[in-house]
Amino acid sequence: MTCLYYNIGFLGGLHPLNTPLRGAELAVYPSINDAYLITEGNKIMAYGSMQDFSPANYSITHRVDVNKGALLPSWCDSHTHIVFAGSRENEFVDKIKGLSYAEIAAKGGGILNSAIKLQQTDSQELYELALERVREVVQAGTGAIEIKSGYGLTLEAELKMLRVIKRLKENTPVLIRATFLGAHAFPTIYKNNPDGYIKLLLTEMIPAIVKEDLAEYIDVFCEEGFFSPAQTALICEAGIKAGLRPRIHANQLAISGGVQVGVTLGAISVDHLESMDEAAMKALSSSSTIGTLLPNASYFLRMQDAPARKLIDNGSIIALASDFNPGSAPSGNMNGVVAQACIRMRMLPEEAFNAATINGACAMELENQCGSIQVGKIANFFITKPIPSLAYYPYAFGSNLITKVVLQGKEIHHSSF
Ligand SMILES: [Zn+2]
Repeated sequence: MTCLYYNIGFLGGLHPLNTPLRGAELAVYPSINDAYLITEGNKIMAYGSMQDFSPANYSITHRVDVNKGALLPSWCDSHTHIVFAGSRENEFVDKIKGLSYAEIAAKGGGILNSAIKLQQTDSQELYELALERVREVVQAGTGAIEIKSGYGLTLEAELKMLRVIKRLKENTPVLIRATFLGAHAFPTIYKNNPDGYIKLLLTEMIPAIVKEDLAEYIDVFCEEGFFSPAQTALICEAGIKAGLRPRIHANQLAISGGVQVGVTLGAISVDHLESMDEAAMKALSSSSTIGTLLPNASYFLRMQDAPARKLIDNGSIIALASDFNPGSAPSGNMNGVVAQACIRMRMLPEEAFNAATINGACAMELENQCGSIQVGKIANFFITKPIPSLAYYPYAFGSNLITKVVLQGKEIHHSSF
């Protein structure tokens, strides 16, 4: 199938290189007004200005009138926990009422309680719940997504989660990366024996996961009261030895030392960064580790946002992701993430789009397949209603502007997979 998309009002994200953008480069969003794009099979075959289009060069089998809308590369959401068993809106109401984290945990909230629910849910139900969330985020423009385990916290339940992620990978048109986050929290039975749990991670969980080829990455929740920098390094080094590249939850609740550990280990990304000091800023800016910012989480938890402006201005590479999870970010809608990045974190619209596409793709090592509109890349994009400019998109933050979603060269509806 060779498909022509014509009458494109604004064709965006035309980055010539598949490398992460940093500093002033992040504000450059190459685009063409009044454009066409051709897909062949699941790939982008050609694009250009409408006035340069010569039909004789192609044997077009399908034609789509974009009606002056924008055609933009799909979102690349590089941090989610989309496989979970139950929603936690009771906790949400408790937080509104002012209950503390400890009080909420005592009433059945928090990661450990998500873990109990997940351990009790069978894998078919878990799969169906996660599949429905994937369908939802795809309709909101996401074309590539990273999904973590970490609500299992036993060998059996972590394997169950990762096998669900593998099924999603095999049965949906979305590009999916899997991350083993067994080090999300210490399970209750290891509360007084943290070394025992780390031993379980190193000697049983990592080998079993690698044997079944269930993950590309290893993640650790490096925070006060969770995993220390030394424990984070120990777990990540074991992961690296087994072929899993680290990505780390760092500096969300406090300055944890997680950024420096991640940079030293050559982590692909350090994620959250709501609490940053000069040492962490400096470590990140002088590295190729990507700082992934998750404004949904700081919004939902009423916490300070990550210092996006400072990070961009000091030359750090940053990406934007949803953190979709039941406790602190129950939304995987990247349109909202981009709007929040502009409104609350003062990122320019171009910076936010780039951080949520090409830099997100780099944070999943998928930059050769997605994240921009380039010949040879997978045809993952969405089409919008006509917009007067790119800035209109995050400005009109409450409007659903997407009219069509294309993944792997095919138009995708809610019921397509
Ligand atoms: Zn997370």
